[in-house]
Amino acid sequence: MNMTSTDSVLTRAEKLCAQRNVRLTPQRLEVLRLMSLQDGAISAYDLLDLLKASEPQAKPPTVYRALDFLLEQGFVHKVESTNSYVLCHHFDEATHTSAMFICDRCGSVKEETTEGMEEMMHVLAAKNGFALHHNVVEAHGLCSACAEIEACNSREACSHDHSFAVKKRGR
Ligand SMILES: [Zn+2]
Ligand SMILES: [Zn+2]
Ligand SMILES: [Zn+2]
Repeated sequence: MNMTSTDSVLTRAEKLCAQRNVRLTPQRLEVLRLMSLQDGAISAYDLLDLLKASEPQAKPPTVYRALDFLLEQGFVHKVESTNSYVLCHHFDEATHTSAMFICDRCGSVKEETTEGMEEMMHVLAAKNGFALHHNVVEAHGLCSACAEIEACNSREACSHDHSFAVKKRGR
């Protein structure tokens, strides 16, 4: 993500926090800024390493508290299957079902939201008398760049990075 969109993410988040009367502390803002610079999902520990650049004092609870706040506000999503976090690109829309397309090779996460899916989940929940609060769909596979690399047959002659393999499920 480039600087302009990082700025717009932070501006939108600041505005929403002001509207909701919640405090976006400098620390929470910094964690959100770091998340907005990621291409895909990031683990809490990798985030802590980044945060230490500006806050050498930061400890795991520092990051988890900031993440809890950002999750509560809907600014980030948790990717349960990889135990990592990703910036929500639609956080100023109403609650949405996010479908996360997670690349098992490079770890990139692309979020898509669809109206239809949200409705379908509510219908299914109602059928079961289930009080639905929140749902996330996580789809695993290969992003288009990685699918191309995996399909490559000229490993000696190409310019791909074949040095890392697809992560196995159930790590
Ligand atoms: Zn989202
Ligand atoms: Zn990929
Ligand atoms: Zn190749």
